[in-house]
Amino acid sequence: MTATKASGAGYRAPGLYIGDRWRAGGAATHTAVVNPATGATLDQLRHASAADLDDALQAAQAGFETWRNTPAAARQDLLLRGVALLRGRAADIARCLTLEQGKPLAQSLGEVKVAADMVQWYAEQARRIQGRLVPGDAAGVDYEVRKAPVGPCLLLSPWNVPVILAARKIGGALAAGCSCIVKPPEETPAAVAMMVACFVEAGLPPGVLNLVFGVPDAVSRHLIASDTIKKVSFTGSVAVGRLLAGLAAPGLKRLTLELGGHSPVVVFDDVDVEDCVARLVAAKFRNAGQLCHAPTRFFVQRRIYADFVDRFARAAASLKQGDGLLPQTEIGPLANARRQRAMAELVASTARAATLVTGGGHGIEQGCFFQPTVFADVQPDAEAMVNEPFGPVALFRAFDDPASALAQANATRYGLGAYVFTDSARLQRQMIDGLNVGAIAVNSTVVSVAEAPFGGVGDSGYGYESGEEGLEGYLHTKFVNRNSQP
Ligand code: NAD
Repeated sequence: MTATKASGAGYRAPGLYIGDRWRAGGAATHTAVVNPATGATLDQLRHASAADLDDALQAAQAGFETWRNTPAAARQDLLLRGVALLRGRAADIARCLTLEQGKPLAQSLGEVKVAADMVQWYAEQARRIQGRLVPGDAAGVDYEVRKAPVGPCLLLSPWNVPVILAARKIGGALAAGCSCIVKPPEETPAAVAMMVACFVEAGLPPGVLNLVFGVPDAVSRHLIASDTIKKVSFTGSVAVGRLLAGLAAPGLKRLTLELGGHSPVVVFDDVDVEDCVARLVAAKFRNAGQLCHAPTRFFVQRRIYADFVDRFARAAASLKQGDGLLPQTEIGPLANARRQRAMAELVASTARAATLVTGGGHGIEQGCFFQPTVFADVQPDAEAMVNEPFGPVALFRAFDDPASALAQANATRYGLGAYVFTDSARLQRQMIDGLNVGAIAVNSTVVSVAEAPFGGVGDSGYGYESGEEGLEGYLHTKFVNRNSQP
C-alpha cells in the first residue's frame, strides 16, 4: 500500500507506515473522511490495532538507534531530499488537502510551501547543533556541554493546518536525531501521509519516521504509556492538552503543548485604515479563521473605531464563499460539521452581548460553511470573548488609551499571538512590554516563521516549535566533566 495520490474523485485514505513499509490498519474501527465543501464521504480511514501500535514502538526504537548515530550532515541531506520531493509534489498534495480540509487551493499550496520551508530550516540547523567547552577547575580538566537527541517522540498534530503542523514536528525531531511516531488527524489524513511518503522515499532508514491513525484517545494512551516514547509534542485544544499532560506525568515525559489562542489586535488611530483593514481581513479569514494564532479580539482606538468596523465588515461580507477547489473561492467551508455547530452556538450566545454587524449564518447551506461574521461593541464577558472562537468570527471593541487597550488585550486565559498596528515607537514598545503572549507582530500579520520560536503562555501551552528553541525541545543536555590527566 502506498500513500494517497489526490486526483479529485480518486481520493484514497492512506495506510499506516511502520518500520519500512505501508500497511493497512488492523483495527476493526475506521474514520469516514468527509469533504467539508460537499458533505460527501471521500473514503474510510482504517485505524491501527494495538499490535500495529506495538510494531510502531518497536520500529521507532530501532530507528532511533540508527538515526542517533547518523552524522548530522547525512541527516541534513536526507531531509533536504525529502523537502525537494515535497516541493515537487506540492500541487497534488495541495489538491488533496483542499478535498479533505476545505481551504482554498491557493492556501493549500501555500501550506505545503511553508511546510517545506520549515523542514528545510530544521534540516540546515541539524549541522549547527553545538555543545560548548567550558574551562575546568584544574589542569587537564574540561567541562563539556553536549547535546543529544531525547529519543523516540510521539507527534500529535491537528486538522486545521495539518501539513504545516506535522512538518514542524517531524522536521524538529528528525533534525535533532530523534525517531518519531506521527499521528496526524484522522479527519484530514492524506495530505500529511503524502508528505511522509516524500521523506520515506528520500531514503530515511527504517523506523525513523512512522505514521499511525486511530481513535486519538486510545492511541495516545497506548503510546504514551510505553517506556519507548521519551517526548510528546501536541498541537490542539486546551482540554486535550491537559489530558495529555496527565498521561505524560507518570513517565515524566517531556512535553510540548501548542494549544489554543485568542489573539488580540490593538489598532491605534494613526494607521492607514484601508490598508490595515485589508491585511487584517485576509489574516482573520484565512483558513476560515481556524488558526490558533488568528486575530480574534480587535481593540480599535475610538477616533477610528466606527469607520474601521464598517470597512472591515464590508470587506468580510464581500469574501467569496465556496468549494476550495474553485479558483474564485476566497473562504472555504469549516473543516467539519462539529466546527459548524460550534460556530452557530457561539454566534447565538454572543449575539446577546454584542451587535451583529455581518454574517452569523451558514451562507452556503450544503457542506460545512459559515459566513465571515463580525460583532461590534462586544461585552467583555460575552462567550466569544472568553472562549476561543476558532472560526470566522471577529470581535470588536473600542478603546480610549493604551493602558485600557493593554488591560483588555490581556484579559484572557490564553497567550499565544498578538498584533499591534501603530507607527509610534513609544506605543509599539509599550505594547511589546505589556502584552502577555508568546508572539507579537507589529504592523504585520505574521507571528509564526521557520526561523523563530512559536509558543504560548497560560492556557496556550508551553514549549516552543520552530527556531532554535524548537530544535532544543528534541534535545537533552549532557554535562561531561572530563579529566584527561587522572
Ligand atoms: P478536540 O479537542 O476533540 O480535538 C482537538 C485535536 O486534538 C484534534 O486534532 C483531535 O484529533 C486531537 N485529539 C483529541 N483527543 C486526543 C487525544 N486523546 N490524544 C491525541 N489527540 C487528540 O476538538 P476539535 O473539535 O477537533 O477541535 C476544536 C478545538 O480544538 C478548537 O476549539 C481549538 O481550540 C482546538 N484546536 C486547536 C488547534 C491549534 O492549532 N492549536 C488545532 C485544532 C484544534
